Amino acid sequence: MTRGHLRAGLDIGGSKIFAAAVDPRDRVVETLRLPTRTGPEGVVDAAVEAVEALGARVGGRAALTGVGVGFPGLVDAVNGDAMHAVNLDITSRLPLAAKLSERLGLPVAVENDVNAAALGTAAALGLGRAGVGYLSIGTGLGAGLVIDGNLHRGSRAAAGEIGHIPVDPSGPLCNCGQRGCLEMLASGTAIAARWPHAEGGGPAAHLFAAAAAGDPAAVVVRDEVAGHIAEAVRVLVLTVDVDAVVLGGGVAEVGEPLADAVRDALRRQAEVSAFLRDLDLAGRVRITPPDMPVAAIGAALLVPAWPAGVDGVGGGVPDELGRVAP
Ligand SMILES: [Zn+2]
Repeated sequence: MTRGHLRAGLDIGGSKIFAAAVDPRDRVVETLRLPTRTGPEGVVDAAVEAVEALGARVGGRAALTGVGVGFPGLVDAVNGDAMHAVNLDITSRLPLAAKLSERLGLPVAVENDVNAAALGTAAALGLGRAGVGYLSIGTGLGAGLVIDGNLHRGSRAAAGEIGHIPVDPSGPLCNCGQRGCLEMLASGTAIAARWPHAEGGGPAAHLFAAAAAGDPAAVVVRDEVAGHIAEAVRVLVLTVDVDAVVLGGGVAEVGEPLADAVRDALRRQAEVSAFLRDLDLAGRVRITPPDMPVAAIGAALLVPAWPAGVDGVGGGVPDELGRVAP
């Protein structure tokens, strides 16, 4: 094993941490999953354990050049501070990058988990420099944007917060104070409220299975939810004209049946509009590959790779002194 050429990525979730090691060609060489802990100290301890466990599988921590972290909440990506995450009981500024860097002796970058997943998805699907909108459909609804190969955060890191675009003035009241936000109509929470079945892998999986089996009530709810997710796809394409909108998050574990329902909804919505038909929104919809830890992969890609070397791998392998061959 060559020293120091792998980047580690962590996706810290409410119950689990996914970790991935990525080589200089952006290929995943190792993954693992550990339980998360909560609170500032718990999160730091669990992240350190995950990096050490990952390092142990790839020839020791010395095989790693740095760590990227996808964090499920507000992040100050410039300083690497985690600001707020209800799921993890983080309620004030936590200098996550600084604390991890001190404990691990490695450079650490921190990014919002949806943004990390957007980067990871673009890489995992080989979308390269194509414009990618990653639509995370889970407890909430939000998007990460990769434009020309780079993450687009916006001036206040609010780019992609399309879950809080109100689309129904008489819809349910949202936590954000507005009424009828997309998040209230198209998220996993919205599905659970309309189809409260826990068995069969959760409400979304149960809903899609019931609809596929011909349950008329399930067909109605599925098609309405898919119609609202289609509205989110339309917002992304008409705002930034991304080449691909990739459905991700917990609801996307439904797989292709979700993508098919959203494509059908987009085609229905385009029936009245030659303008929309020309834009081929349905043809841009993709789904996150199953069992692909895209947020962990994207987090790893936050760590700068070694500069391109003569071996043409896009990242020269450093010698014992950390020098990279010219
Ligand atoms: Zn809202």
